[in-house]
Amino acid sequence: MINLSSDTQTKPTAEMRATMMNAEVGDEQAGTDPTVNALLEKTADLLGKEAALFLPTGTMCNLVAVKTHTRPGQTILVDHLAHVLRMETGGAALASGVIVETLPSEFGQFTAQAVKDALWPRSNYSPPATLLCVEQTHNFGGGSVWTLEELTAVSETARDLEMAVHMDGARLMNAVVASGNSAADFSAVCDTVWLDFTKGLGAPIGAVLAGTADFINRARRYKHMFGGAMRQAGIAAAGCIYALDHHVDRLAEDHANMQLLAGGLRQVPGLIVPDRVDTNILFFEVAAEGMDAALFEAAMREYDVQMVRLGERLRMVTHLDVSQQEIAEAVAAAGEVMALAAV
Ligand SMILES: *Cc1c(COP(=O)(O)O)cnc(C)c1O
Repeated sequence: MINLSSDTQTKPTAEMRATMMNAEVGDEQAGTDPTVNALLEKTADLLGKEAALFLPTGTMCNLVAVKTHTRPGQTILVDHLAHVLRMETGGAALASGVIVETLPSEFGQFTAQAVKDALWPRSNYSPPATLLCVEQTHNFGGGSVWTLEELTAVSETARDLEMAVHMDGARLMNAVVASGNSAADFSAVCDTVWLDFTKGLGAPIGAVLAGTADFINRARRYKHMFGGAMRQAGIAAAGCIYALDHHVDRLAEDHANMQLLAGGLRQVPGLIVPDRVDTNILFFEVAAEGMDAALFEAAMREYDVQMVRLGERLRMVTHLDVSQQEIAEAVAAAGEVMALAAV
């Protein structure tokens, strides 16, 4: 099976598993797991933040961050394709009692003007917008990278308007590798930021949320409330440290493989592939007589190629467990499937 459905589909490598097996452990909930503490220090340094918190998932990073940043009845602004809005079962509304308002976006990105346009003057009648969320890279926007200039512009606007800025950095390291900017550069214009270790970084468990010491101290309470406080979590943290040490630079391979994949699919008649493909995620569509996204997905499965379908949009993602050879096979399969459609 050539599994292009997500970069979460990677299996931990033998070296990563060995590191995890031999990890020194303590009690994460009590703050005495040395491997977790080492990961937190390393990640806080990488992100240029004072403190960090280990959480089981990226979803819980968003849940805890929104809870810590806001009070019930406030508004958070997100782009219309944001993971926090579309894929987290309404957790922000349930756990934090916030209104989630969307900004129109392209590739998941919006302008400073869109932020301004969304706001009503603060008054005793309107719910105050107090948090702006950005996604770097943007998942449903097709792995798009905010440039530092774009991110700085929306962040400065948000702060002028008395909003905090939270970055869902599930794939921040893909943005770092693609742009050449450091993780700290991007994080500097955000109050809080988190990294997911289970996406392109290839670890099996874990995400880290970072911010000021005061913010993280308050966030720790919600981590516990939501059931995210763990015990001998150093086993998981060891995989995350291994990923930071060995799996960051190689994200460039995933990006190069994605260029091969997108380039190959562009040559296939009937597939609509965007020109802009920044990192390791591609959304594309099918436009041909007798073929649609659902049929294409099913036919590709016959060729052992797996992807994700969101209505008419199809997603392919490159990662650690997909080789250049497999990319070529997937492109060839797409050509054969679409040739059938044209007949
Ligand atoms: C995967 C993802 C999440 C959630 O992370 P999990 O570790 O799967 O809970 C949040 N935001 C974005 C952009 C993601 O891609």
